[in-house]
Amino acid sequence: MKVEDILAKLVSFPVLGGDHNLEIIHWIQNYIEPFGIATTLVPNEEKTKASLHCRIGPSVDGGVILSGHTDVVPVKGQAWDSDPFTLTKKDGKLFGRGSADMKGFIACCLASLPTLVKADLKKPIYFAFSYDEEIGCLAAPELIEHIQKTYSENAKYAIIGEPSSLEPVIGKKGVCYVLTEVNGSAGHSSGIHKEISAIHESTRLIIWLENKMKELSQATQDHRFNPPHSTLHVGQISGGVATNIVADYTRFEWDVRVIPKDDIEAIFNDYFSFCKERELEVRKQFPDFTITNTFVHPPVPALDTKLTDDIVALTQKISGQNSWKTVSYAAEAGQFHEAGYQSIICGPGSIEQAHRANEYTTQEQLNECVKMLQKLVVEFSI
Ligand SMILES: [Zn+2]
Repeated sequence: MKVEDILAKLVSFPVLGGDHNLEIIHWIQNYIEPFGIATTLVPNEEKTKASLHCRIGPSVDGGVILSGHTDVVPVKGQAWDSDPFTLTKKDGKLFGRGSADMKGFIACCLASLPTLVKADLKKPIYFAFSYDEEIGCLAAPELIEHIQKTYSENAKYAIIGEPSSLEPVIGKKGVCYVLTEVNGSAGHSSGIHKEISAIHESTRLIIWLENKMKELSQATQDHRFNPPHSTLHVGQISGGVATNIVADYTRFEWDVRVIPKDDIEAIFNDYFSFCKERELEVRKQFPDFTITNTFVHPPVPALDTKLTDDIVALTQKISGQNSWKTVSYAAEAGQFHEAGYQSIICGPGSIEQAHRANEYTTQEQLNECVKMLQKLVVEFSI
């Protein structure tokens, strides 16, 4: 199948992060297996979703994993000019949800399969396609573990095909979303001197987060990133019912994005200690005061590939781009890096188009990516 036909098929499965993905994963499985390649599914506990992995080539160390996710972000509230789940071609652009992020890369992997199976590969190439990436890279840890359990040999590299306009991405910040809930006392606003406002207490915590960012920005910097320091940001807050009622509940969601040198756990521990301190203090006046913190998803580790790692030279060679860059979004690359693979992000399409209305990739980017994978095959056949 031609790469754009494969992409059209993949786009037609409207699998959002969190949704069941068995239909798309079975379609991919049924595409791969007639090439004589055995695939392995890694289902979730409820067996409603699955990741897929397979190996093409010999069972020897030193292979490369090509990684992609089958889920996409929602289209709700976005003004699309065409049906987001029907790939629509116009002036060399291919519009559709996931065309860039990141079904484009999966389509290129699948379109390269005839070349891959015919080649005399000296080192193996693996496909690893996950689900639930868009809601916190949830499936990747289990998929990676399963790959390590299934094959007796060890792969060395991972290329994560997130849209990067095929420019190698060597670093990304570690990311985590946290929900903080504050329970205070209710009452008339005129009695605030004896009540505990959840809003007032929340602001202390938010200011703490802001100050923490200032402190981190002065302590550690990494100039590969923009900004060159870790960031903390409260993106959503709600609480209170009326001006003259003391708010007894507030919730806010915040994210932390750490440069590889900063320790995300240490930041959480500092924050949790401050929350404990406030609880102990406020409970002297209102014993039921609580602050509850919940991780919206487990932390996604940073990607920190060194310029001297061979994956950089390899990706630059096959992509034809001698540059590199860093990004600040979450991606499974952090988890592959943490698992010990030399990892890099490099895929077709631009992140500028991802997650937006009228998301697109170009025919040219797809063709370039297929060429890149063909060059990878040459490199792995020597
Ligand atoms: Zn993505």
